[in-house]
Amino acid sequence: MPPAQFAVFGHPISHSLSPTIHQAFAQQFGIALEYRAIDVPPADFTATVRRFFADGGRGANVTLPHKAAAFALADQHSVAATRAGTANVLSALDDGRLAAHNTDGDGMVRDLAERHRVDLRGHDTLLLGAGGAAHGVAWRLLDAGAQSLTIVNRSPEAADALADAIGEPARVRTRYWDDLASIGSYDLIVNATSAGVLGAALQLPFSLLGNRAVCYDLSYGQAAAGFLGWAKAAGARHACDGLGMLVETAADAFALWHGQRPDTEPVYQQLRRQA
Ligand code: NDP
Repeated sequence: MPPAQFAVFGHPISHSLSPTIHQAFAQQFGIALEYRAIDVPPADFTATVRRFFADGGRGANVTLPHKAAAFALADQHSVAATRAGTANVLSALDDGRLAAHNTDGDGMVRDLAERHRVDLRGHDTLLLGAGGAAHGVAWRLLDAGAQSLTIVNRSPEAADALADAIGEPARVRTRYWDDLASIGSYDLIVNATSAGVLGAALQLPFSLLGNRAVCYDLSYGQAAAGFLGWAKAAGARHACDGLGMLVETAADAFALWHGQRPDTEPVYQQLRRQA
């Protein structure tokens, strides 16, 4: 029997670590699988994904810029995917329909709580960015016990839309990017912008950092260097990149597809050594 087929769809996708991560997880259980990185432009995404599953594909990861399209094409949606309005995981159901999941929030919170030992309860949290990834993590930060969530986005309409969708005005507020110097300090600052990936520097005031604050950048590698450098210079207790989140979100996808949860630590350590 040929190995089960999995893939990650993105554009571009050549940089993706997902094939390496899923093969490493599969080895832990002696599972044979094929996991490909498929570069597909937005216009061809839906047809290409449908063909992949019609040809026997079992599961797919989805990354930029296709997460909203992945949500739209699925027949079933998890609570996290419905909240975010985007999906980073698609699974084939037994009847041939497709289920959409969003594992970004769970992955980030598990990385923070279990790998970095950060208890999010009671934290005043600043979320920079209101794009797809911010939608994935915002609710989960509140579920994990964040006392407040302040969302600041370069385009204020997107921050307002996210706050409105969450619908918890007592805990969630928005502020303008231009006012960052006057909005106080935070226990946790999450950078969910793509500025680093795009090679743009964020100009952030040190006044944002509360005493013993934690800073977390969803991006990793060189893309996270600017924000993490700022966090360390400002005296952050922890300054973490999103490599652990990437591995944890992949583990959630693996568990959905294979019914077994892999040990993420050796895979994380291997990628960290290679970074
Ligand atoms: P989106 O394109 O959906 O959103 C990008 C966000 O970044 C928007 O809020 C945008 O603001 C903001 N932004 C872009 N450039 C700048 C800038 N120069 N200054 C300030 N804000 C800026 O991307 P995603 O939300 O999907 O991804 C965001 C980041 O998270 C990426 O770096 C991605 O790699 C990372 N990520 C990591 C994951 C992991 O597992 N570690 C998982 C998912 C994402 P505006 O609305 O004004 O354009």
